[in-house]
Amino acid sequence: MESLNFKLLEQCSKCGACYHICPSCLNLEGYDPRAVIKDVLAGQHEKWLSHKSIWQCLECHHCLEICFQHYGFENTMAAMRTLAAKKGMTPPQVKRGWDMFIKTGKLGEPVAPARKKLNLPEAAKSGAEDFKKMVKIYREAKTNPNF
Ligand code: SF4
Ligand code: SF4
Repeated sequence: MESLNFKLLEQCSKCGACYHICPSCLNLEGYDPRAVIKDVLAGQHEKWLSHKSIWQCLECHHCLEICFQHYGFENTMAAMRTLAAKKGMTPPQVKRGWDMFIKTGKLGEPVAPARKKLNLPEAAKSGAEDFKKMVKIYREAKTNPNF
């Protein structure tokens, strides 16, 4: 929570403008970052850590783009996800996705018949091998004080 700017959140709680351009707000029943922000300001953020809402933000940046403070709902939802992950409260399906990404550099395999049906071109070659090399270098650097 220390990463959040409470002064900006105070303004945010009085505004609510980006609710009407947020795709998750418009399409997912019950998704409302305004309620999360209200509880964060009241010191009651804990109750949202196990709530699916915090994982329903698409990180599309729409709210950041229109925000007069350039703050957006997104910062709050990202801070909540970070905190939930630190506390080991990541939903299993998200955890599976992360594990697969770290292991393979992919979040899934392209489905060729579905792409064909939608007239999409063949999927580009995965950068998984390059990603795995980067992870290896990063891990080595973390354990090497001279790096
Ligand atoms: S970043 Fe998240 S909160 Fe912001 S508009 Fe997109 S889905 Fe909504
Ligand atoms: S993020 Fe910005 S635009 Fe959206 S409600 Fe808060 S202050 Fe308003």
